[in-house]
Amino acid sequence: MKTIAFIHSIDKISQDNWLAQFNTLLPDETIVLAEQLTDTQASQIELAIVANPSVDALKRFPNLIWVQSLWAGVEKIVDTFRLLNSEKEHPTQLVRLIDPYLAETMAEAVLTWSLYLYRNIPEYMQQQKQKVWNPIPCPNIETVQVSVLGTGELGTVSMEALVSQGFNVNSWSRGHKDIKNVTHYSEKEGLNSLLQKTDILICLLPLTDHTYKLLNKKTLGLLPKGAKVINFARGGIINHDDLINALDTGHLSHAVLDVFEKEPLTKDSPLWHHPKVSVLPHISATTNVETASKIVADNIKNFRINGAIPESVDLEKGY
Ligand code: NAP
Repeated sequence: MKTIAFIHSIDKISQDNWLAQFNTLLPDETIVLAEQLTDTQASQIELAIVANPSVDALKRFPNLIWVQSLWAGVEKIVDTFRLLNSEKEHPTQLVRLIDPYLAETMAEAVLTWSLYLYRNIPEYMQQQKQKVWNPIPCPNIETVQVSVLGTGELGTVSMEALVSQGFNVNSWSRGHKDIKNVTHYSEKEGLNSLLQKTDILICLLPLTDHTYKLLNKKTLGLLPKGAKVINFARGGIINHDDLINALDTGHLSHAVLDVFEKEPLTKDSPLWHHPKVSVLPHISATTNVETASKIVADNIKNFRINGAIPESVDLEKGY
């Protein structure tokens, strides 16, 4: 029997749910909660499964070879790993969750809310409140420019869904990306060109030092008048004051926000009752315990067989 530490700060029901899956899928492993291990035992552990681990909890495990996160986004723990690894001869590899089911779920959300904006549903909901009978012109779908920031696991599948729906799709990322029927942009100049032609902007970037408040007065100002924004990535990527300002002046016509710097969104946030904002409680693509635990278990089994560590997060880049 080999021991894997489960280091987390999730609630007990979620903890037990994950444990039940892992105990079934990994019968040759013993999965132990971090707090049940003495410091000596913790110092011998080479592999951990983590979900929002605290720095102090991780510090008790100096000899981890790699760590499997149960989430796709790692912005909350990247700094911790940079710090812990700076003192180590052999850095601990951080592996994030890459789950095709999660990507499909995100693609479904991207398509749903793009159609919601394209078919002017927010405006019709406002009109109904005021008993206004007013058909709003809807352009042909192939003339609508939808741009996705981030061409990673989630962005790529989302763009495929948008293309098959008939939208005119553009993408932006650091490197080059070839997605069928998608016009790709990169670099700062590429972002500026993309923004200027975008009707619906969708953010699927990771939150890093480079993407923090990337969408601000200047960049949002490059979007054509009446453009719409969807943020399904992380709240810190948009400057919400600048966004509200752009909505209030009529420069932008609507924003769908699933993620916020502070979650749950605080009760006093003006976003809650803004007529041009749709607020979602971080649900565009939630981790599916069944599919995710299978992927995590396969990663661990594979490592036990041949020592292969799954592709890990580039701590320098932050994603
Ligand atoms: P990923 O596979 O790591 O892809 C990230 C993409 O962003 C890559 O295409 C990367 O470019 C691009 N990128 C990163 N930094 C950039 C920069 N400074 N300039 C331009 N492009 C940049 O990530 P993913 O799995 O698709 O997930 C994306 C994010 O979605 C996660 O980090 C997480 O925050 C969020 N998420 C949200 C939910 C939700 O329910 N709302 C659920 C899961 C994940 P290159 O390809 O050129 O490297």
